[in-house]
Amino acid sequence: MRVKGLLYKVFEFKIDRSLYKQQMQKIIESQPNLRTFQDTVDDVILRGDKITGVVTRIGLKLSAKVVILTAGTFLNGVVHIGSNHYSAGRMGASPSISLADNLRKLHLNVARLKTGTPPRLDRRSINFSNLEKQTSDLYAAPLSFLSTESNNRPKQIDCFITRTQPKTHDIILNHLHESAIYSGNIQGVGPRYCPSIEDKVKRFTDRTSHQIFLEPEGLHAYEIYPNGISTSLPYEVQEAFVRSIPGLEHVNITRPGYAIEYDSFDPQDLRPTLETKQIENLFIAGQINRTTGYEEAAAQGVYVGINAARKVQGQSEWVPKRHEAYIGVMNDDLITCGTNEPYRMFTSRAEYRLLLRPDNADHRLTPIGRELGCVSDQRWQVFLKKQKDMAAALDYVKRTRVTLTADQQKIFKEKFNQALTPGLTIFQLLQRPTLRYAFLEKLLTLSPIADDIRYSVEIEARYEGYIARQKIEINRLKKDEGTVIPSTFNYDSIPSLSNEIRQKLKKIKPGSIAVAGRIPGVTPAALSVLRVYLKRHTEKIDCMW
Ligand SMILES: Cc1cc2nc3c(=O)[nH]c(=O)nc-3n(C[C@H](O)[C@H](O)[C@H](O)COP(=O)(O)OP(=O)(O)OC[C@H]3O[C@@H](n4cnc5c(N)ncnc54)[C@H](O)[C@@H]3O)c2cc1C
Repeated sequence: MRVKGLLYKVFEFKIDRSLYKQQMQKIIESQPNLRTFQDTVDDVILRGDKITGVVTRIGLKLSAKVVILTAGTFLNGVVHIGSNHYSAGRMGASPSISLADNLRKLHLNVARLKTGTPPRLDRRSINFSNLEKQTSDLYAAPLSFLSTESNNRPKQIDCFITRTQPKTHDIILNHLHESAIYSGNIQGVGPRYCPSIEDKVKRFTDRTSHQIFLEPEGLHAYEIYPNGISTSLPYEVQEAFVRSIPGLEHVNITRPGYAIEYDSFDPQDLRPTLETKQIENLFIAGQINRTTGYEEAAAQGVYVGINAARKVQGQSEWVPKRHEAYIGVMNDDLITCGTNEPYRMFTSRAEYRLLLRPDNADHRLTPIGRELGCVSDQRWQVFLKKQKDMAAALDYVKRTRVTLTADQQKIFKEKFNQALTPGLTIFQLLQRPTLRYAFLEKLLTLSPIADDIRYSVEIEARYEGYIARQKIEINRLKKDEGTVIPSTFNYDSIPSLSNEIRQKLKKIKPGSIAVAGRIPGVTPAALSVLRVYLKRHTEKIDCMW
């Protein structure tokens, strides 16, 4: 976990790959009413513009009311290492070529993208003695609200930090022309914010060093994932530059780094539920929607699963708003604005970050999940208890007024360089940037508050004004969200719109003024004009009746 101030806590969890896999397998296998079957899908079955099933490699036809396609980097996947390239879904896995070729016949907009990975290293050949150790936080919130620190905390192991050297950069620059990316072998666009090491060295020439995290792949794994040196240089060059890095002088590479190119689909071809506009009942999720990253794929998986299941059951769709969940931000960004490069869900993309916090994720989403039928009784009970505890804690800090004794005042003054005004509530005190509940708890022997609740209470107090302002803004926006733009609206009827804006609106066909406002390049002035014309359009329709 990395902390940047109280609010900007960045959680980073390293998960043991094999434990995770085992656990997920267990969950899938114990799911009631779920039948699993494994084979490669080669084609889709269509009836008109509707998908009705898939055909597998052994010719088996499987009918389906809906199909969810999550083929990752496998569609026409090509792995590149230096000038070597071969078809693969990822290293050691076959690509999906027949399916990719058949999907290209569906008139969905396809583009090649690329992503990459670093070489993996043998931990036993690394000299950790002079490297900076990064230990796990003593208190790290569990991933699940169902877990408690005591019932589910596996052994923690350390990461280490090392850095590239000027010599490393020389080796990379001298061999840049041999990198698959720079030799012109790769056409696909890569993720801007996860550049390869050759990209970083070439683009940031003023930097003499780049940080590398040496992350164990698991509790008992020998492999180390050197985060920060993704590369598609030839194997020999990878070995040379890696061995120029402190601690890695004698390292053995267990698997080379590589870049991979694959087919991706334009998310602007999707409805907000991730169903394709062109083919009814075909849903697409994950990396092939031009995102990259585990979290981005996992979030789409949950979301598309919910919506596809609801469609089969004839229920309404669930499309979270931007202020409700990061899934809402990601989907809206992708579907409204599209992307030409692999998209990552950075917190900075969310305008309501104060509301979209990990600590209140359950508060925002568990009631919705319960309504959608995805929240078990056990989770619901844990949630209700937490809500009750949170309300009690907020009530306590808002009610309790503090007046210090002379001795307490002295301690306070020593720490904060000023005396405490008597009679303020704890809630008011927590609005001071450097004052934490733990300090007051000790000073005044207050009632202890559980870690997770205390953290939420502190944020609610510290950012009360900002949070209130964001809520006002959201309410204002609701009006724009309610201003529907009919799909038949004629943008050519507005002469004062610039050609560029008109083309964008015609292509994306935003469903509301709020969505139109998020299309890059659509100005506030254009929105005002649009509002006026929409009003006239609606009045005209009213008159016709
Ligand atoms: C080399 C590499 C390293 C990465 N490292 C990181 C990282 O460190 N951190 C991070 O956040 N993200 C990383 N990513 C990205 C991350 O792995 C992906 O974004 C994420 O796994 C995408 O999930 P997905 O479910 O969309 O696809 P995938 O995880 O790729 O899964 C696709 C699945 O579809 C199956 N499949 C494909 N075609 C067919 C077919 N025709 N029939 C049946 N099944 C099929 C495949 O077997 C596979 O199981 C990396 C990606 C790559 C390629």
